[in-house]
Amino acid sequence: MTKEQSVKNLDEIITKIESARLKCNAHHIVSLVGISKYNTADDIKTLYLSGQRAFGENKVQDLKEKSSQLNDYPISWHFVGRLQTNKINQLIDLAPVLMHSLEDYDLANELDKRLKIKNKKMKCLLQINSAKEESKAGVMPEVAVETYKKIKQDFTNIELIGVMSIGAHSDDKELIKKSFITTKNIFDTLKNDGATICSMGMSSDYELAIELGSNMVRIGSSLFKD
Ligand SMILES: *Cc1c(COP(=O)(O)O)cnc(C)c1O
Repeated sequence: MTKEQSVKNLDEIITKIESARLKCNAHHIVSLVGISKYNTADDIKTLYLSGQRAFGENKVQDLKEKSSQLNDYPISWHFVGRLQTNKINQLIDLAPVLMHSLEDYDLANELDKRLKIKNKKMKCLLQINSAKEESKAGVMPEVAVETYKKIKQDFTNIELIGVMSIGAHSDDKELIKKSFITTKNIFDTLKNDGATICSMGMSSDYELAIELGSNMVRIGSSLFKD
């Protein structure tokens, strides 16, 4: 990916984010997290030099390697993938600014235990399986509010600040829309409990997600394309 191409991709996406935001009269800012899971540290550096500061990885090992290769750059690293119990300590040491994929109460319990031992805190989002897909992680929408409150109440070292969801895996726009509305409703309910981030929207559906209330999009392929 050349510098020119990365400037072009980034400009295009920022423009689209902005028009989707205006379309729904949103007064909030929409943050962009560049998902770099299929890309090299060099690709990330190219986008960093075009002004992008937040990047996300879905594997602890990749986060470790790329963040160390890019140690000289003040990048805000996010973690968006499935967290295996045996990788929890490594993730804590990498100290991402936000962990999007807290997928259930048990994982929260494990993570909180290790955070306490290390005397660390971690900002997290509760992942919601809003389209109830077997292939996806996350809590079911019916129990999301209750689980969120319970995690907040029981654990002191996890700072829960919102929700994350992946749109329905479908060509049917209505189904995708429905999954985003489900997540947004849960987010709205949880605002009284300190939820400020609604992370939803990827390359294929981020404009729709923003129109339906997302304030953080996670974009990989269309940001890094040649
Ligand atoms: C890969 C990934 C993305 C980005 O997907 P693209 O379609 O490439 O934009 C966003 N969120 C999560 C959790 C991912 O794993």
